[in-house]
Amino acid sequence: MDKYVVEIENLRKVYRVGDEKVVALDNVSLKIRSGEICCILGTSGSGKSTLLHLIAGLEKPTRGSIKINGNRIDTMNERQLALFRQRFIGFVFQSYNLLPTLTALENVCLPLTFRGVKKSIREREAARMLEAVGLKTHMKHLPTQMSGGQQQRVGIARAFVCKPALLLADEPTGNLDSKTTREIKELILKLARANRQTLIIVSHDSDVAGIADRVVHILDGSIEKIEDNFVSEG
Ligand code: ADP
Ligand code: MG
Repeated sequence: MDKYVVEIENLRKVYRVGDEKVVALDNVSLKIRSGEICCILGTSGSGKSTLLHLIAGLEKPTRGSIKINGNRIDTMNERQLALFRQRFIGFVFQSYNLLPTLTALENVCLPLTFRGVKKSIREREAARMLEAVGLKTHMKHLPTQMSGGQQQRVGIARAFVCKPALLLADEPTGNLDSKTTREIKELILKLARANRQTLIIVSHDSDVAGIADRVVHILDGSIEKIEDNFVSEG
């Protein structure tokens, strides 16, 4: 039997701005298997980021349920959500979201600090992770002293350092040139596959789609179709 890391049912998200109502997601149901690489594909404004934020527990749905590793997160309070994110979620942002006054090593240490890992161990783990993303020589660099691709490598190291079951990447290469884009995508996929972590990667172009296990096409806040690239056994 398949184990699902993400189980979403009938999800709806409405944003209200003044008198305007935007239906960002409607009638979205989706299950994602443990270890799956899932690509969310859709044009700008189709609801991709909204979906990722709901899965990460960063926002509440207007209607519908979200289970992560069997736990309902849509009914959790803020404190429970913060703990849930610490334990289960790694997030890679399009704009890296590094803390500008912290070095690469300190940025990667942060999630370990929140988990209460002691200093010597978190520095060892963060250094190991930075080495794995190819930044052995840049541990002491500040974000402003690194290229976009290097900053995103730090962002990736930070997302993976706690070995979360679920990694969410929201257009992680949206600000990068095409060569760096390829390298960064390969790095994220390699790390996720190596540790059998579940990865949901959002993209507006179809080049991740070919290497994902499944591609979920989103159109105007709803799932338009799902392409299954799983190789069936037997
Ligand atoms: P995508 O990531 O696919 O570009 P988003 O999920 O960011 O799309 O946005 C989907 C829709 O929801 C858009 O119409 C957007 O304007 C709206 N939206 C997203 N976030 C907010 C917000 N915080 N407040 C109001 N409207 C929002
Ligand atoms: Mg977006």
